[in-house]
Amino acid sequence: KNIPPTFPAFARALVEAFGDNEFIVFDEERITYRDWYRAATALAHKLHEMGVEKGDRVALAAQNLPEWPVVYYAVLSLGGIVVPLNAWWTGQELEYGLTDSGAKILIADGRRYDRIKPLLPEIDGIQQVIVTRPSGPLDKGVIGLDALIGPSSGWGTLPHDDFPAADIGPEDDGTILYTSGTTGHPKGAVATHRNSLTNLLSSGYATARGALRRGETPEPASPLTILLVIPMFHVTGCTAIMGPAMASGSKVVLMRKWDATGALELIEREKVTMTGGVPTIAWQILEHPDRAKYDLSSLESITYGGAPAAPELVRKIKSEFGASPGSGWGMTETSGTVTGHTAEDYLHRADSCGPPVPVAKLKIMSEDGTRELPTGEIGELWAFGAMVVRGYWNKPEANAESFIDGWIRTGDLARLDEEGFCYICDRAKDMIIRGGENIYSSEVENVLYDHPAVTDAALIGLPHKTLGEEPAAVVHLAPGKTASEEELKSWVSERLAKFKTPVRIVFVDDTLPRNANGKIMKKDLADLFFAEAETAA
Ligand code: ATP
Ligand code: MG
Repeated sequence: KNIPPTFPAFARALVEAFGDNEFIVFDEERITYRDWYRAATALAHKLHEMGVEKGDRVALAAQNLPEWPVVYYAVLSLGGIVVPLNAWWTGQELEYGLTDSGAKILIADGRRYDRIKPLLPEIDGIQQVIVTRPSGPLDKGVIGLDALIGPSSGWGTLPHDDFPAADIGPEDDGTILYTSGTTGHPKGAVATHRNSLTNLLSSGYATARGALRRGETPEPASPLTILLVIPMFHVTGCTAIMGPAMASGSKVVLMRKWDATGALELIEREKVTMTGGVPTIAWQILEHPDRAKYDLSSLESITYGGAPAAPELVRKIKSEFGASPGSGWGMTETSGTVTGHTAEDYLHRADSCGPPVPVAKLKIMSEDGTRELPTGEIGELWAFGAMVVRGYWNKPEANAESFIDGWIRTGDLARLDEEGFCYICDRAKDMIIRGGENIYSSEVENVLYDHPAVTDAALIGLPHKTLGEEPAAVVHLAPGKTASEEELKSWVSERLAKFKTPVRIVFVDDTLPRNANGKIMKKDLADLFFAEAETAA
C-alpha cells in the first residue's frame, strides 16, 4: 500500500533527485544522499529480520552522528516508531524514556550505552541492544551497528536499494519525541508521518517568508550548506532543520554536540551558508573572542527558535555578519516550526516570532479556554494544523486537557498584531502575578537585555506573603562590563511600570543554566535567591 506522504516515499524521492549530492559531513566522513539511502534500506532489512514490525518502538539514544538519519528512516520505513532519547539524560532518565515508550530495541552510541547498561536488566521489553561507535569491546548479546551496515565509507556499496515492503500510510505513528522538560517531566509527543512531513512545509516556508512578503519570487529551494549543531533528539534538529534540508538536497555539516570554536572552524572549512537552532548558539558565535580569526563570510542566514531571543540579537546578526536573521516559534507538540519570519520582517519586529505559516492557524484564547480574545490582547496561544501531533504517548488526561478538536493549547501566553504577527510574552506557568497585576517575563527581560552590560537575563517570581509573588531577576553581565543592582533597577523602572521592576537582582558569573534544547531552567533559578538569603542569615 504505502500511500504517500510517508517517510519511505520521501526517502525514495530524495535519492532520485539528489543521489550524488553530498548529504552529511562529519569530521572526515563524507556521505552522499545515495550512501545514506543504501545504509537506511540495508538497516531496514536487518531490523525486519530481527522482528521489528509496525508499531514497534525503537529507541535511539545518541549524539548527532551520521547513523542518526539512517536509523530514523530505517525504522520509519517498517512502520516502526522512532523514540529519540535525550543524550544529556542520566541513566535513570534514559530508563524513564525506555520504559515510558515500551521500546523493543535500543540503539545507542557508546556513551549512552555505558550510562544505561547497569539499569538494563531492570527494563522489561527490550529484546535487543545495538551499539554504534562503542567505547570498548561489546558485551555478550549486544550487536554493533557496524556489524549490520559497516562504517560510513562503505555505505554506498551496501546490497539494498529499497525498503522492505510495508503497509504504512500517512496517519501511522512515526516518532515519539520528548518535550524538553522545562516546566515538568518530559512528555512523549506522538507524531504521525503526516504530522512530521507537514512540518517540512512549515519550516521551509517560515524561512522563505521574508522574501514572499516583500513580493519577491522565492527561489526554488536551492541546496544550502547547513551547520547542524543542535541535538537531533529534539524536534528542531530532527524535523524542523533536517526536513527542509533534505527536501532541498542540502549538505548538513554535523557536530556531535555544540562547541563554539569547533563551529567557527567548520563554518570556514565547509563554507557554511546557514546555521542556528536556538538563540544561545547565535550569541556564542557573535561573542566568540576569536571570531575575527575565521572567515565567516559564507554565512547567509542565522535562524533560531525554541526560546525567547533578545531583540538586540537580530540587529547584531545583520550588522556584524551582514547575514539574514530568522526566528520562529514551535513546540514538540507541533512537530516543529509553526510561525517564522526572516530578514526585513524580523528586523522591523524584533520582538515577534513571525506570523503563522499558511498551513497553520493560531488563535488567542481566554485563560479558561472558552473565549477567543480580540486582536492585540494577551491570552493563551492555541495552534491548529496538520503538524499538531495526535497526542502524548500514554497520557489520556494530559491529552484531554491539551488537544481539543485538532487545536493544541500551547501553555504559552501571546498576542497577535493586526498583520497576524505573533509575540510570545511568557509561559503561563512562568507568568508572575503581583497583587493581581500580570507581569510577563519577556517584556522585563527584553528591557534588561537592552542595557549595554547585560548579556543574559531571566525574570522569575518570588513568593510574597500579601502580594502573592514579586518579580526578581537573575542577570549575567558581559565580560569586563559592570552594573550595580540599583542601576539595573532604575534602568527597568524608567522604562516600565514600577510594579514590573525586579525587587531583587542576583548576578551570576556564568550564563544562565539551560537544558539541552537551549531553554533557561527557570524552575532551578529561584534556589539562587534562597541560597543567598541563607548565606546572609
Ligand atoms: P516541557 O513542555 O517539557 O516543559 P518545553 O515546553 O520547553 O518543555 P519544547 O516542546 O521543546 O519543550 O518547547 C516548546 C516551548 O518553547 C514553547 O511552548 C515555548 O514556551 C518555547 N518557545 C518556542 N519557540 C519560542 C520563541 N520563538 N520564543 C519564545 N519561546 C519559545
Ligand atoms: Mg512544553
